[in-house]
Amino acid sequence: MWQRAGLGVLVVCGLSLTAFGQARPLAGPDVPQIYQRLLPQIEKIPIFDHHAHPGFSDDPDVDAMASPPGSAALRTRDTNPELVAASKALFGYPYNDLSPEHAKWLVQKKTELKKAQGTAYFSNLLDKLNIEQGVANRAMMADYLDPKRFAWVFFADSFMWPFDNQRERARNRDQEVYLPLQEKMLHRWMQQENVDKLPPDLTGYLAFVTRTLEDNEKKGGIAMKFEVAYFRPTKFGDPTQEQAEDVYQRFVNGGIPNEQEYRTFQDYVFRFLVREGGRLHLPVHIHTAVGIGDYFNLSESNIMNLENVLRDPRYSGTVFVMIHGGYPYEHQAIWLAAMQNVYLDSSLMELDMYPSEFKHVLKEWLETFPDKITFGTDSFPYNETLGAEESYWLGVQSARTALTAALAEMVSEGEVTEAQALQLAHGYLHDNAVGIYQGKVH
Ligand SMILES: [Zn+2]
Repeated sequence: MWQRAGLGVLVVCGLSLTAFGQARPLAGPDVPQIYQRLLPQIEKIPIFDHHAHPGFSDDPDVDAMASPPGSAALRTRDTNPELVAASKALFGYPYNDLSPEHAKWLVQKKTELKKAQGTAYFSNLLDKLNIEQGVANRAMMADYLDPKRFAWVFFADSFMWPFDNQRERARNRDQEVYLPLQEKMLHRWMQQENVDKLPPDLTGYLAFVTRTLEDNEKKGGIAMKFEVAYFRPTKFGDPTQEQAEDVYQRFVNGGIPNEQEYRTFQDYVFRFLVREGGRLHLPVHIHTAVGIGDYFNLSESNIMNLENVLRDPRYSGTVFVMIHGGYPYEHQAIWLAAMQNVYLDSSLMELDMYPSEFKHVLKEWLETFPDKITFGTDSFPYNETLGAEESYWLGVQSARTALTAALAEMVSEGEVTEAQALQLAHGYLHDNAVGIYQGKVH
């Protein structure tokens, strides 16, 4: 098999060699022209947005957690002048700044449109940006999002926090915000499954977890999402069922587990969920980038911490999507996509980085595992002025221009033809992600 695959590669290389010779380390002066030729064609590709939180700013179900106070990177501050361009493009905003006085116009305009368009409001927004369908990664789906255009990805973290979380909450002010919301999410799943009290043993608890996953899938859920990096280190141990059962029995009716005890239980539940994701064909999305809040611990949540899970043959039946591509460790992260069941999503990166920098990331990824990378916006309703609408716009514009720039250089450097470049663009913006969901999305 290996020899055959090797020969296949040689034949393809041979063909490309006769077509346009050896790759060059320097792009030629033709990059701007190639860029101009590719961009309008790339704009016509209908997008599948693999990660976003569509919704209005007063909707608490937009996420399963909330933002603690903390610093924001330059481009994501509400002083970013690009937001004026977004408002102009989407709503015909007549001013050149977002001063509180002028921003009132925008808030008023959005209110009128929401009233007039109802459930079509967000679908119309997707139409404007040529997004065919997008993920709604939300606590619960909203009745104002059309399920034909928005596929639900639900949160699975809360199953890991069923005990008294007093000690966990006290770790820092971010956990003080996050963990009560995880407790709330777990109670909502319990209500959904008519479970009024935690089951007395681990087997009963895991059966409740499975029922929730199955019911969420019936409700239209296409994947489960973990934002666990916000709450604990992402290095997961491999405890036995007996060890997890022991912790469960001791704390299900009260008492505060110490850190090691809680982690043992969580490690077991996380791996259980990963296995269930394979059995139920529910891909597992994991937040793998830097996060909001000043106490987010980068080294404890480094994407490479997950390598032992991703490369474990026991989980080869589970599809993993590394949300936000491991940023700022995206250079290492692309090599995890060597695993046939591991994909990277580039959402958030194209908002934090300007296109001139994001171009480098996409180029490296396209040159390594182009069939394993997917596009997402991480659109989120930050506030009334900077809504999900503007972040959709910024994500789409940034990714299209950075992608076109990366491909224009690859064409100019003799790595791919323009036709191949467009194929890669289709893969990244649509086909690679859609291929994961076995006909559930389009
Ligand atoms: Zn997100």
